[in-house]
Amino acid sequence: MNTILIPGGAGYIGSHTVRALAEAGFDCVIYDNLSEGHREAVKDFELIEGDLLDYEKLSQVFKNRKIIGVVHFAAFALVGISMKEPLDYYRNNVIGTHNLLTAMRNAEVKNIVFSSTCATYGNVKTTPINESFITEPCNPYGETKLAVEKMLKWCDTAYGMRYVCPRYFNAAGAMPDGSIGEDHKLETHLIPLVYRTILKDETVSVFGNDYPTRDGSCIRDYIHVCDLADAHVRALKYLISDGSSMSVNLGTEHGASVFEIIKAAEQASGKTVKYAVAQRRAGDPPILVADASLAKEKLGWSAVRGLTEIMNDAWQWHKNHPNGYEPYE
Ligand code: UDP
Repeated sequence: MNTILIPGGAGYIGSHTVRALAEAGFDCVIYDNLSEGHREAVKDFELIEGDLLDYEKLSQVFKNRKIIGVVHFAAFALVGISMKEPLDYYRNNVIGTHNLLTAMRNAEVKNIVFSSTCATYGNVKTTPINESFITEPCNPYGETKLAVEKMLKWCDTAYGMRYVCPRYFNAAGAMPDGSIGEDHKLETHLIPLVYRTILKDETVSVFGNDYPTRDGSCIRDYIHVCDLADAHVRALKYLISDGSSMSVNLGTEHGASVFEIIKAAEQASGKTVKYAVAQRRAGDPPILVADASLAKEKLGWSAVRGLTEIMNDAWQWHKNHPNGYEPYE
């Protein structure tokens, strides 16, 4: 069988990718400690509840199966918390991945797609961002992702372990059939918060309206989670057919401002969004937009869904699951 291990596969991007991998004919085994993931999100798949820090359990998974590749999502991913608890981030993201790579090496598994981030670039001076930009993360989250990318480079040199590190821009949206979507314990992302304000009659903060952008608010490259999932399948196939290791941007190459997202949410939902302009959020660069030409060249991938699909699919998910995967109140 084409068995793929997916650490963190019960999380947001992971669960959408598991569906895409299964559709592409891969046999998916999910390894997730459910700290952020949801059993419900992968109920049709094999889920092993386990932590990357539990090396014994992890290595057993490799001993019991013939795994041909790993698609790795298991990581802490909140910039703000990483600033307060950097050691937690290093332990979970770097030591956890060290365990995973050790288990892979011992089991002679050579292919890994590692979920990385545009936070590896830090405060860029120009945009769009391509992969040749200098990587100078400005928070521990980005540092831990970059540390793993570097560890992978040396694992390739020493053990012939090949990798693709997709560097995501702003993942958003949900499965169009409404079955899975975004549900974080602590929600800090703009689109879910905008929809929550509609559903719970709250007010969303716009973090700064005096940036040097077209309307003063920050611009980000929002990319549909199903486009990301498709890119992971392509990255895995690329490795299986002997593609060489690389880090690669995944974005739409189009930016939307915070005010534009609010407007798009009003259009998708037919409701008014209450907002208030607030202080800038520390560490937010004004504009982050991807140059995704390398993904097109190497993986034959480009985003096919735009902001309208992102906002419609996210709205369907949040409207029908106001408490995420928890039962309705
Ligand atoms: N943002 C905002 N209000 C919020 C949450 C986010 O104005 O309640 C802004 C944030 O400052 C950034 C953009 O929305 O410019 C996207 O933020 P998000 O946290 O979704 O993703 P990030 O770009 O930080 O990964």
